[in-house]
Amino acid sequence: MAIKRVWIEEGCIVCNACETTCPEVFNVTEDSCHIRAEVRTDGKQTTNLTERSDLSGSFGDELADQIQEAAEGCPVEVIKFE
Ligand code: SF4
Repeated sequence: MAIKRVWIEEGCIVCNACETTCPEVFNVTEDSCHIRAEVRTDGKQTTNLTERSDLSGSFGDELADQIQEAAEGCPVEVIKFE
């Protein structure tokens, strides 16, 4: 199943697990986790909580399994996708 967009809700504990699982999409910062600009249609690098920017190109297909794995592995379940 392709993923259209992914974002981070509030409450990230910066554990780094998602970036280890899928470094193409997740960039863990000092206080949260960002969705990388390179995989977003809006080219911003934020949590994507308010923008809800779509994944660009074929990333939603190619990285669907890793994104899902990262979401399942997040200890506080703040990685959301649709
Ligand atoms: S796995 Fe979850 S808690 Fe850990 S850095 Fe990623 S979003 Fe934050």
